Amino acid sequence: VEEFKLAVVGGGGVGKSALTVQFVQNVFVEECKNAPFYLLTFEKTIPLSRIPIANIVELMMFLASLRYLIPLYKSLRDSYMRNADGFVMVFSIIDRKTFEEINEFYDQILRVKDADKWPMVIIGNKCDLESERAVSKEDAMKLAASCGRMPYLEASAKARKNVDEVFYELVREVRKQ
Ligand code: GDP
Repeated sequence: VEEFKLAVVGGGGVGKSALTVQFVQNVFVEECKNAPFYLLTFEKTIPLSRIPIANIVELMMFLASLRYLIPLYKSLRDSYMRNADGFVMVFSIIDRKTFEEINEFYDQILRVKDADKWPMVIIGNKCDLESERAVSKEDAMKLAASCGRMPYLEASAKARKNVDEVFYELVREVRKQ
């Protein structure tokens, strides 16, 4: 059994909590708490190809936008980031600003990891709101390509679309390393 520590990062309101809770508990939560970040420890066995079984043991979420974190949170966040095997970087397809923030998270992660490459996936969440889309798939795929050619997926925590795939894909990236 393999164990992975995964972190979920992204701007405020993009759906980090909703995606994570949907993945772990199969429910959509309309409103979550408002802590700057919290640590969720759980076990979930996921199928990887056919034989290997992986357990994701820890999922971390940073709920606030990076720039608003006070220094104490910043050092805590950095130490959690340092421990993560892989990162889900989430933006909302209906909020252009959260898309533009992805580059900051990407730089931040590589800086904390002191690496030029690390297992990550980019997720465009809220794809159920297609009529309000503010970020095209092409732009998102270009960004993913420019960030070390990482995978890009569109998901909806609300419609439970691609939710499992987000985490499966990231675990695949971690195992490729
Ligand atoms: P976080 O700050 O990144 O943790 O974002 P939340 O998980 O708290 O979600 C912020 C708001 O967006 C909440 O009102 C959620 O119900 C809503 N939300 C999250 N995911 C989706 C989604 O896939 N589709 C829609 N329509 N709303 C979503």
